[in-house]
Amino acid sequence: MKIYLDNAATTPLAPEVLEAMLPFFSEKYGNPSSIHQFGREAKAAIEKARKSIAQMLNAAPAEIFFTSGGTETANLVIQRVIDDLGVTRVITSRIEHHCVLHTIESLYCRLKVEFVELDASGNVNYEHLEKLLAPGIEKTLVCLMYANNEIGNITNIERVGELCKKYQAYFFSDTVQAIAHYLIDLQKVNVHFISGSAHKFHGPKGIGFVYMRSDAMLKPMLHGGSQERNMRSGTENITGIIGMEKAMGMAYTKLNEDSKYIQSLKEYFFQKLKEILPDIRVNGNYEHNSLYTVLNVSFPPSDKGDFLVYNLDISGISVSAGSACASGSDAGSHVLKALHAPPDRGSVRFSFSRYNTKEEVDEVVKAISELAEKRREIY
Ligand code: PLP
Repeated sequence: MKIYLDNAATTPLAPEVLEAMLPFFSEKYGNPSSIHQFGREAKAAIEKARKSIAQMLNAAPAEIFFTSGGTETANLVIQRVIDDLGVTRVITSRIEHHCVLHTIESLYCRLKVEFVELDASGNVNYEHLEKLLAPGIEKTLVCLMYANNEIGNITNIERVGELCKKYQAYFFSDTVQAIAHYLIDLQKVNVHFISGSAHKFHGPKGIGFVYMRSDAMLKPMLHGGSQERNMRSGTENITGIIGMEKAMGMAYTKLNEDSKYIQSLKEYFFQKLKEILPDIRVNGNYEHNSLYTVLNVSFPPSDKGDFLVYNLDISGISVSAGSACASGSDAGSHVLKALHAPPDRGSVRFSFSRYNTKEEVDEVVKAISELAEKRREIY
């Protein structure tokens, strides 16, 4: 038995996406920079994908640049805003993804950093954000993610955008967990930069994009052959780009159906889990402002998260303790630490996709129940 409930770390490639990508490995292998027909065919396919992705977000194609994913985009934006837009201060939160926090950390000597307050569930204190923005003296970049990859909390990016407009700050939102899961209309939100990563929505790994609003264009971080209108040199990941467009298109076409289905799995799982372990809690939000794909469960003190993760893995069930995005380190989750989660309670992130089933959820509940029983026998 193999059950995959770690879709916030990465998702399986949709078969239709693979199908769309295959010709670009075999027959349509031209370098998009070549002027012959192979090159022109490849170039046209890339531009078609860019246009389509821009349309899905209500942006202009010229505002979309392909990158290798969320990490590269965050590095590009945070590093370049200093020299290109004169930013000297960053306002962020302690629960951002490490690609944001570590990039900011690497620039401590050039950027003043301020952290917005969070409530006990990890929600942004918007009044505090306004207080931080209000002096309005320094050129500021606000970095607040749309949806948290560990606890699933959703930030009101419309509200953040309005505050940024009022105090003339730039706004970068890491939207990696939200793209293709929520509709984002870039004409309605005041955001200058967002990021996307295809492997979070059944597309391939190593491909993503940055949206740069036309009035906040940055200079390139990678220099070379002038690809991506000189924004990001390097031969394009054409199979990735084709796959990302296909995956995003599929996701937005089936958004209502998929989101309802996945939300129902999440709720069913939580109810069933509560029946066997009444003392479980949710880290972050549950009912409102929470990703329908993510459920971060805090287990009773005797059922340590890592004990569960390892033992579920032995049973063929893949879940995550904290965030798999920092895999290989057992430093513990910076998000749960920021929320002052009790250290004696173990936490596990379960994350769902359209490919999970109710039967799988039942299997996982059964496995957890058996493990909890075993654990009770030992102690
Ligand atoms: N931001 C968030 C919220 C994420 O969940 C991830 C996932 O790892 C990233 C950024 C990094 O994206 P990528 O894997 O494309 O570098």
